Amino acid sequence: MKKITAGILAIDLVMGLLLCCVYGSRKLESIRNGEQGEYIQTVSQEVSACQDMDCKKIALTFDDGPHPYYTEQLLDGLKERGVRATFFVTGEHAELHPDIIKRMQEEGHLIGNHTYSHIQLTGKNRETFKNELIKTNEIIKEITGEEVEYVRPPYGTWDKKFEQELNMFPVLWTVDPLDWSSQNVSTITKSVEEKVEENDIILMHDYYDTTVTAALQIIDDLQKEGYTFVTVDEILFD
Ligand SMILES: [Zn+2]
Repeated sequence: MKKITAGILAIDLVMGLLLCCVYGSRKLESIRNGEQGEYIQTVSQEVSACQDMDCKKIALTFDDGPHPYYTEQLLDGLKERGVRATFFVTGEHAELHPDIIKRMQEEGHLIGNHTYSHIQLTGKNRETFKNELIKTNEIIKEITGEEVEYVRPPYGTWDKKFEQELNMFPVLWTVDPLDWSSQNVSTITKSVEEKVEENDIILMHDYYDTTVTAALQIIDDLQKEGYTFVTVDEILFD
């Protein structure tokens, strides 16, 4: 069984050093994947979709949205299948489509922060990056009425001090089908289904029609294999 990977990416702003650590009894481990490197972790607020011990959990995560068409299509497909996912949205896109953010919340999905304008943390823009996170939290909270706890930092660069300063957790992933690169349904589907194991967290982007089609196909295929799709908090902290 694959170990849960949750990420605390501690970036030394100069060296980009990756560290692992433990939050209390919750084992967290960092994994870096692909060029678009981003990171994972999370917590649970809702009743688990997995009630019995044999339940094989898996989580779909979608970054960069909401997109005005594709995210709605994805939400329709998730609803039809009774599946909840995790969305790391940018403040910019959330501001443009508050109705979609509201819908995500109403339909039980977990919403996290992906910065305001999808910027990468560098040695020189720490304050700007931090302000983007704060601004995005405010935009999301204005729509949902709830605090935002989870962040997936674009390109995986993170400053561990933000976790205390902002009371936020960085979130990683374990499977990256590079959906933004191929934009090919069968390539994406195959890439996930060949690698997937229990407790995996899959990184995708709800910004392409091919990703929506592939994600729904993956759900249909993996549900037949006994997987239950949950929000990332259920995998990381249950
Ligand atoms: Zn992104």
